[in-house]
Amino acid sequence: MNKIDQLQDLVDKSQKIVFFGGAGVSTESNIPDFRSSNGVYNLKLNRHFTAEQLVSRTMFERYPEDFFDFYKKHLIYPKAKPNAAHIYLAVLEKMGKLEAIVTQNIDSLHEMAGSKKVFKLHGSADRNYCLGCHRFYDLDAFLALKGPVPHCLDCGKVVKPDVTLYEESLDMDVFSQAAQAIQQADLLIIGGTSLVVYPAASLVNYFSGSNLVVINKSSTPQDSQADLVIEGKIGEVFSKLRQ
Ligand code: NAD
Repeated sequence: MNKIDQLQDLVDKSQKIVFFGGAGVSTESNIPDFRSSNGVYNLKLNRHFTAEQLVSRTMFERYPEDFFDFYKKHLIYPKAKPNAAHIYLAVLEKMGKLEAIVTQNIDSLHEMAGSKKVFKLHGSADRNYCLGCHRFYDLDAFLALKGPVPHCLDCGKVVKPDVTLYEESLDMDVFSQAAQAIQQADLLIIGGTSLVVYPAASLVNYFSGSNLVVINKSSTPQDSQADLVIEGKIGEVFSKLRQ
């Protein structure tokens, strides 16, 4: 049996599938990941700071102009559309086979594709809150705020994207619900993630079900534990499955 047939067979016989993914799920929607050769960490920025430093709480607080300039240019893609991977996972949920998506992504392409149960470990670029009065701004309203640093239209304090920066902790409610979903899954599909960002990556250790699949363009730390490893583009792989 080839690997696509093996994956189809595993999907067919599973009832509680959970998908754990990352930035690689959205590269086929033209949103760059962080660690691929054409990813954000490998951009020539010509700045004092590296991309990795720029996505930290320290940068947000001490150098907000640099932080927001980098964030708006490289981390948000308001025109991106779901690709075959997002669409397939939404179909699996509608079929009653997929219990949840656990994602490290801050884009909303899973939701745009129609997925309902999405645990967003690192928050969402669609949610932005004033640090003073907590007024909410969606992505369009956030982008419409003038100036190099977005300030609240009501109270004038800085508006912060509800995304988890380095040095910030994760939302523990979301984390524990994601852990529970993974714990109860019979098939865990990991895809489009380097699995090096912690504590998010540690979640896959909660899995105790029958089959573990990894679909990724490059090798991951879970490959040796997996029942099936498919090296390739996740949208292309999923589009070969029956829908
Ligand atoms: P990463 O950049 O560390 O790793 C991406 C992985 O996906 C790599 O292993 C790469 O080989 C693989 N990949 C790339 N394109 C693929 C494709 N089409 N099919 C299969 N595999 C593919 O990303 P990560 O593991 O998610 O962790 C880094 C952090 O990146 C996360 O915290 C996330 O918040 C953030 N991030 C999110 C977005 C987004 O929201 N779309 C974009 C960039 C970074």
